Amino acid sequence: MRAPSDSVDLSNLWMPFTANRQFKAHPRLLAGAQGMYYTTADGRRILDGTAGLWCVNAGHARPEIIEAITRQASHLDYAPSFQIGHEDSFRAASRIAALMPDGLDRIFFTNSGSESVDTALKIALAYHRARGEGQRTRLIGRERGYHGVGFGGISVGGISPNRKTFSGVLLPGVDHLPHTHAPEHNAWSRGQPAWGAHLADELERIITLHDASTIAAVIVEPLAGSTGVLVPPVGYLERLREITARHGILLIFDEVITAFGRLGAATASGRFGVTPDMITMAKGISNAAIPAGAVAVLRGIHDAILDASGSGIEFFHGYTYSAHPMATAAILAAQDIYEREGLFQRAEALSAPFEEAAHALRGRRHVIDVRNLGLVAGVELAPREGAPGARAAEVFARCFDRGVLVRYTGDTLAFSPPLVIDESQIAELFGTVAEVLDEID
Ligand code: PLP
Repeated sequence: MRAPSDSVDLSNLWMPFTANRQFKAHPRLLAGAQGMYYTTADGRRILDGTAGLWCVNAGHARPEIIEAITRQASHLDYAPSFQIGHEDSFRAASRIAALMPDGLDRIFFTNSGSESVDTALKIALAYHRARGEGQRTRLIGRERGYHGVGFGGISVGGISPNRKTFSGVLLPGVDHLPHTHAPEHNAWSRGQPAWGAHLADELERIITLHDASTIAAVIVEPLAGSTGVLVPPVGYLERLREITARHGILLIFDEVITAFGRLGAATASGRFGVTPDMITMAKGISNAAIPAGAVAVLRGIHDAILDASGSGIEFFHGYTYSAHPMATAAILAAQDIYEREGLFQRAEALSAPFEEAAHALRGRRHVIDVRNLGLVAGVELAPREGAPGARAAEVFARCFDRGVLVRYTGDTLAFSPPLVIDESQIAELFGTVAEVLDEID
């Protein structure tokens, strides 16, 4: 990659979740994006195998979204979201509500997945308090869970590097379910692993320990992405639903990466036929053209909070940019594209060739597991002795040099392309990885 032009000073920017020193020694700079491809600063085309960060579901630079944002910017650049509104915010809420499972039709807008998670956790606490069960404050997450970077999100999250620096100030009273990754039982699963539903029963143990009357909510990703693609075992989510309902505990599905087609349906909840009490979302909601997020809330939860409140503000929470006019414009335009082009169905139709291409890596050097569902796949590599993550990092770097963007966490490569990918691009994506795996130690 060519060095950036002299006018660009890389020193001031502190980059998120980045090895800053390494990056600045060997920068990778993107300059453009169109459809399935990025263009680098030195003019190379890069096939986007990750939809940016799991978010550009309709492909890049969709003119309809650009026009909607531009129109809105010149029309109503900003509107306060407290005690005042604008029509598109209500339209966008209705549009999102129509895609959610039955009953989850109250929509709270945020700007990101992290904000959606913290919002949902606060709604859970407010709901129990409104019903006179304010002692239900405990939150249950899951090991290896990723719920963004707010204090709520890292507390219920289960990724240790994200937690350790802040361990003294994480939310009190949080417990974690075990994760479901057990390669000795579920390696090479195509779709949902057959093994592992019983791991949901650990929730019963946690409930017995703390007593249900102290527990507000359980939050899990129906399919965990950031931790290296963990597909829920058959029956696992159903069991979590049954146990939480029986004990009056709310169930939150964090669908920040799974909502809007990734698994071949509007939501993972719809795909699995398991309805939680709240769904957090972001990313694909606006096709990532403008930051946006939301929480879909069961109507009864919303109503309980409103009914218990005196006159005036019912829920003391919100963001300056909740339902930002440009975000709602992008949401409406993105949802139009998803619907008009049938992209959720397209993802479902492509999931079989995608699965084949991913599992064709079985038997390649270093590959110890392949797992997939919808348009998500994880390819786990054996770690290098004494250098966990180094092998996958090298695959990422070499693929980028060859014009293909993949993602890695630990030693797992993650694939989550825009839903507009075609079969030849699927072949290019996994074919490039196969070549690179053959080359490296
Ligand atoms: N929750 C899940 C499941 C995610 O995958 C992510 C981001 O990848 C987040 C929350 C955080 O979203 P954001 O980075 O928009 O805050």
